[in-house]
Amino acid sequence: IDWQEFDLNDVTSSAIHIIHGEAERRGIKLTSTQLPGKLPVRADKVHVQQVILNLATNAMDSMLDALPAGRTLTFATGLANEKVELRVSDTGDGIPEERLNSIFEPFYTTKQAGTGLGLSIARAIVETYGGTIRADNRPEGGAVFRVALPLARRPE
Ligand code: ADP
Ligand code: MG
Repeated sequence: IDWQEFDLNDVTSSAIHIIHGEAERRGIKLTSTQLPGKLPVRADKVHVQQVILNLATNAMDSMLDALPAGRTLTFATGLANEKVELRVSDTGDGIPEERLNSIFEPFYTTKQAGTGLGLSIARAIVETYGGTIRADNRPEGGAVFRVALPLARRPE
Protein backbone atom coordinates (compact mmCIF):
# COMPACT_ATOMS: atom_id res chain seq x y z
CA ILE A 1 0.00 0.00 0.00
CA ASP A 2 1.32 3.39 -0.99
CA TRP A 3 0.04 5.49 1.95
CA GLN A 4 -0.44 9.14 1.19
CA GLU A 5 -2.46 11.96 2.60
CA PHE A 6 -4.61 13.49 -0.10
CA ASP A 7 -7.76 15.50 -0.61
CA LEU A 8 -10.91 13.51 -1.45
CA ASN A 9 -12.13 16.47 -3.50
CA ASP A 10 -9.03 16.12 -5.72
CA VAL A 11 -9.44 12.37 -6.33
CA THR A 12 -13.12 12.89 -7.03
CA SER A 13 -12.31 15.57 -9.59
CA SER A 14 -9.76 13.36 -11.31
CA ALA A 15 -12.21 10.44 -11.43
CA ILE A 16 -14.79 12.76 -13.01
CA HIS A 17 -12.17 13.81 -15.54
CA ILE A 18 -11.47 10.16 -16.40
CA ILE A 19 -15.12 9.22 -17.00
CA HIS A 20 -16.13 12.47 -18.70
CA GLY A 21 -15.78 11.20 -22.28
CA GLU A 22 -17.61 7.95 -21.60
CA ALA A 23 -20.45 9.79 -19.84
CA GLU A 24 -20.78 12.09 -22.84
CA ARG A 25 -20.95 9.13 -25.24
CA ARG A 26 -23.71 7.64 -23.11
CA GLY A 27 -25.68 10.86 -22.93
CA ILE A 28 -25.16 11.17 -19.19
CA LYS A 29 -24.98 14.55 -17.49
CA LEU A 30 -22.32 14.78 -14.77
CA THR A 31 -22.83 17.04 -11.80
CA SER A 32 -20.62 17.53 -8.79
CA THR A 33 -20.95 19.42 -5.53
CA GLN A 34 -17.85 19.45 -3.37
CA LEU A 35 -17.53 20.75 0.15
CA PRO A 36 -15.18 23.74 -0.18
CA GLY A 37 -11.73 23.24 1.32
CA LYS A 38 -9.76 20.06 1.75
CA LEU A 39 -11.09 16.69 2.84
CA PRO A 40 -7.91 14.96 4.03
CA VAL A 41 -7.81 11.17 3.78
CA ARG A 42 -4.89 8.81 4.46
CA ALA A 43 -4.92 5.87 2.07
CA ASP A 44 -3.54 4.73 -1.27
CA LYS A 45 -4.93 7.28 -3.71
CA VAL A 46 -5.04 4.77 -6.57
CA HIS A 47 -7.26 2.47 -4.49
CA VAL A 48 -9.69 5.25 -3.61
CA GLN A 49 -9.83 6.31 -7.23
CA GLN A 50 -10.62 2.70 -8.16
CA VAL A 51 -13.56 2.73 -5.74
CA ILE A 52 -14.94 5.91 -7.27
CA LEU A 53 -14.52 4.56 -10.80
CA ASN A 54 -16.27 1.29 -9.89
CA LEU A 55 -19.22 3.21 -8.46
CA ALA A 56 -19.33 5.55 -11.44
CA THR A 57 -19.23 2.66 -13.91
CA ASN A 58 -22.14 0.95 -12.16
CA ALA A 59 -24.07 4.22 -12.03
CA MET A 60 -23.60 4.69 -15.79
CA ASP A 61 -24.67 1.09 -16.46
CA SER A 62 -27.82 1.61 -14.37
CA MET A 63 -29.02 4.36 -16.71
CA LEU A 64 -28.82 2.46 -20.01
CA ASP A 65 -32.62 2.18 -20.15
CA ALA A 66 -33.37 5.64 -18.82
CA LEU A 67 -34.52 8.39 -21.15
CA PRO A 68 -31.43 10.32 -22.23
CA ALA A 69 -32.81 13.58 -20.83
CA GLY A 70 -33.04 12.00 -17.40
CA ARG A 71 -29.56 10.47 -17.18
CA THR A 72 -27.65 12.21 -14.42
CA LEU A 73 -24.66 11.05 -12.41
CA THR A 74 -23.99 13.15 -9.34
CA PHE A 75 -20.95 13.28 -7.07
CA ALA A 76 -21.13 15.02 -3.72
CA THR A 77 -18.42 15.29 -1.08
CA GLY A 78 -18.77 16.38 2.49
CA LEU A 79 -18.18 15.65 6.16
CA ALA A 80 -20.51 13.45 8.20
CA ASN A 81 -19.94 12.11 11.72
CA GLU A 82 -16.24 13.04 11.75
CA LYS A 83 -15.77 11.18 8.49
CA VAL A 84 -15.09 12.30 4.98
CA GLU A 85 -17.97 11.28 2.77
CA LEU A 86 -18.50 10.80 -0.95
CA ARG A 87 -21.95 10.16 -2.38
CA VAL A 88 -22.39 8.82 -5.91
CA SER A 89 -26.01 9.06 -7.13
CA ASP A 90 -27.69 8.04 -10.36
CA THR A 91 -31.12 8.28 -11.95
CA GLY A 92 -31.28 4.62 -12.93
CA ASP A 93 -33.67 1.89 -11.83
CA GLY A 94 -32.39 1.63 -8.27
CA ILE A 95 -31.77 -1.62 -6.38
CA PRO A 96 -34.38 -4.03 -4.96
CA GLU A 97 -34.49 -3.35 -1.21
CA GLU A 98 -33.63 -6.95 -0.36
CA ARG A 99 -30.47 -6.68 -2.49
CA LEU A 100 -29.00 -3.55 -0.94
CA ASN A 101 -26.43 -5.60 0.95
CA SER A 102 -25.96 -8.70 -1.22
CA ILE A 103 -24.84 -6.63 -4.21
CA PHE A 104 -21.52 -6.34 -2.34
CA GLU A 105 -20.95 -10.10 -2.47
CA PRO A 106 -18.30 -11.28 -4.94
CA PHE A 107 -19.73 -12.49 -8.28
CA TYR A 108 -23.21 -11.09 -7.66
CA THR A 109 -24.22 -9.52 -10.96
CA THR A 110 -27.39 -8.83 -12.92
CA LYS A 111 -25.48 -7.96 -16.11
CA GLN A 112 -24.98 -10.15 -19.21
CA ALA A 113 -21.23 -9.71 -19.07
CA GLY A 114 -20.80 -8.52 -15.52
CA THR A 115 -18.06 -9.85 -13.26
CA GLY A 116 -19.88 -9.01 -10.06
CA LEU A 117 -16.57 -8.00 -8.54
CA GLY A 118 -16.66 -4.21 -8.64
CA LEU A 119 -18.59 -3.65 -5.41
CA SER A 120 -16.88 -6.42 -3.45
CA ILE A 121 -13.52 -4.91 -4.35
CA ALA A 122 -14.78 -1.43 -3.50
CA ARG A 123 -15.96 -2.59 -0.06
CA ALA A 124 -12.68 -4.44 0.63
CA ILE A 125 -10.68 -1.33 -0.25
CA VAL A 126 -12.82 1.02 1.82
CA GLU A 127 -12.71 -1.30 4.85
CA THR A 128 -8.91 -1.57 4.55
CA TYR A 129 -8.81 2.15 5.29
CA GLY A 130 -11.27 1.99 8.18
CA GLY A 131 -14.22 3.21 6.16
CA THR A 132 -17.67 2.03 5.19
CA ILE A 133 -19.66 1.79 1.98
CA ARG A 134 -23.40 1.38 1.68
CA ALA A 135 -26.09 1.46 -0.96
CA ASP A 136 -29.56 3.00 -0.78
CA ASN A 137 -32.37 3.96 -3.09
CA ARG A 138 -33.17 7.62 -3.55
CA PRO A 139 -36.75 8.72 -2.95
CA GLU A 140 -36.65 10.42 -6.36
CA GLY A 141 -35.58 7.14 -7.98
CA GLY A 142 -32.14 5.74 -8.67
CA ALA A 143 -29.43 4.57 -6.31
CA VAL A 144 -27.01 6.35 -4.04
CA PHE A 145 -23.75 4.87 -2.77
CA ARG A 146 -22.11 6.46 0.27
CA VAL A 147 -18.43 6.00 0.99
CA ALA A 148 -17.19 7.22 4.38
CA LEU A 149 -13.50 7.34 5.26
CA PRO A 150 -11.79 8.49 8.44
CA LEU A 151 -10.55 12.08 8.46
CA ALA A 152 -6.75 12.08 8.30
CA ARG A 153 -6.73 15.15 10.59
CA ARG A 154 -8.90 18.11 11.45
CA PRO A 155 -9.86 19.90 8.25
CA GLU A 156 -8.35 23.39 7.80
P1 ADP B 1 -21.01 -5.81 -12.06
O1 ADP B 1 -20.98 -4.34 -12.34
O2 ADP B 1 -19.93 -6.54 -12.80
O3 ADP B 1 -22.35 -6.44 -12.22
P2 ADP B 1 -20.67 -4.98 -9.29
O4 ADP B 1 -20.10 -5.68 -8.11
O5 ADP B 1 -20.03 -3.71 -9.68
O6 ADP B 1 -20.62 -6.02 -10.50
O7 ADP B 1 -22.22 -4.72 -9.07
C1 ADP B 1 -23.03 -5.82 -8.67
C2 ADP B 1 -24.49 -5.59 -9.02
O8 ADP B 1 -25.03 -4.56 -8.18
C3 ADP B 1 -24.79 -5.11 -10.43
O9 ADP B 1 -24.82 -6.17 -11.35
C4 ADP B 1 -26.17 -4.48 -10.25
O10 ADP B 1 -27.17 -5.46 -10.22
C5 ADP B 1 -26.08 -3.88 -8.85
N1 ADP B 1 -25.74 -2.44 -8.88
C6 ADP B 1 -24.54 -1.88 -8.60
N2 ADP B 1 -24.58 -0.55 -8.74
C7 ADP B 1 -25.85 -0.24 -9.08
C8 ADP B 1 -26.53 0.99 -9.37
N3 ADP B 1 -25.90 2.17 -9.32
N4 ADP B 1 -27.85 0.93 -9.68
C9 ADP B 1 -28.50 -0.27 -9.73
N5 ADP B 1 -27.91 -1.46 -9.48
C10 ADP B 1 -26.60 -1.45 -9.17
MG1 MG C 1 -19.53 -2.99 -11.62
